[in-house]
Amino acid sequence: MSFNYLKKMPSPEEIKEMLPVPEKVQELKLKRDKEVADIITGKDDRFLCIIGPCSADNEDAVCEYISKLARVAEDIKDKVLVVPRIYTNKPRTTGSGYKGIASQPDPNEAPDMLAGLIAMRKMHIRAMTESELTAADEMLYPENWGYVDDLLSYVAIGARSVEDQHHRLTVSGFDVASGMKNPTSGDFSVMLNSVYAAQHPHHFTFSGYEVTTTGNPLAHTILRGAVSKHGNSTQNYHYEDLIRLHNMYEEMDLVNPACIIDANHSNSNKQFKEQIRIVKEVMHNRNHSDDIKKLVKGVMIESYLVEGCQPISENQTYGQSITDPCLGWEDTRHLLYTIAERN
Ligand code: PEP
Ligand code: MN
Repeated sequence: MSFNYLKKMPSPEEIKEMLPVPEKVQELKLKRDKEVADIITGKDDRFLCIIGPCSADNEDAVCEYISKLARVAEDIKDKVLVVPRIYTNKPRTTGSGYKGIASQPDPNEAPDMLAGLIAMRKMHIRAMTESELTAADEMLYPENWGYVDDLLSYVAIGARSVEDQHHRLTVSGFDVASGMKNPTSGDFSVMLNSVYAAQHPHHFTFSGYEVTTTGNPLAHTILRGAVSKHGNSTQNYHYEDLIRLHNMYEEMDLVNPACIIDANHSNSNKQFKEQIRIVKEVMHNRNHSDDIKKLVKGVMIESYLVEGCQPISENQTYGQSITDPCLGWEDTRHLLYTIAERN
């Protein structure tokens, strides 16, 4: 047998008993889930800002970042709903490299999935408790849902996962807002088919059970730019792209047309400072077109304490990304106030 079964992982019930979400924070999560949902359905016209490091690699740095974020979030709460990115599982283009705190609590050490699971829950719970902000994470492994379903107010399906049936069907059982990214190839119809699948009921096997789902009306799209057949980044946050998405939504049987613009990744070509200009362009286009204003509900921004990124090493800079390059804190703060002014 080629698999080497190292140890049995605890069940979601076991891990939740070990690291429970405090009752007060459970109530906060329900309230915030509804606030995010109301933005997606158009009941609330505030702008959604999903913002934070590419990977949440260090509990102290992530919690410090989110505490700073919480102070700005409070100032702009009438205009903007801030959802921190606490991304604990990282998809890798070739499968090698750092795969997130849920695999490697210490990026310099070998993977340890149980220690990772504990580090991941501990960080989410501390961040929620200290900041009173519940977070977004990417669902990289659908079977992990039971370990995080009491933590997240927003789930993203990454560009490399969005075409996968198991991801799509799993989202159809969520009751929180879930963003389906365009695939790296950039095809809008793959992304919209994914939203269609997630919005409809399904019957399948999940985590050792036969299950049925009701469909998730909060499933929506995220535009993250694409990679051409020649390997160049192509953007999809411009006016014409958004009008095209609006028109494609109109032709499909989907509820709650909604889109989030991811300002980094192939949209910035990882030129992280461009996120500032890209977000301003999105705000401008929303104010130019009512159709775009209704469709584009928010942005996703990669940001951390220290700008840029660094390789993994024994003496890393505290609060700087070890995956995609991020905006630093001062730029982030200014950008958040600018977004609030322009919504
Ligand atoms: C990310 O959000 O850090 C990410 C990996 O996104 P994508 O799936 O768009 O590459
Ligand atoms: Mn990233």
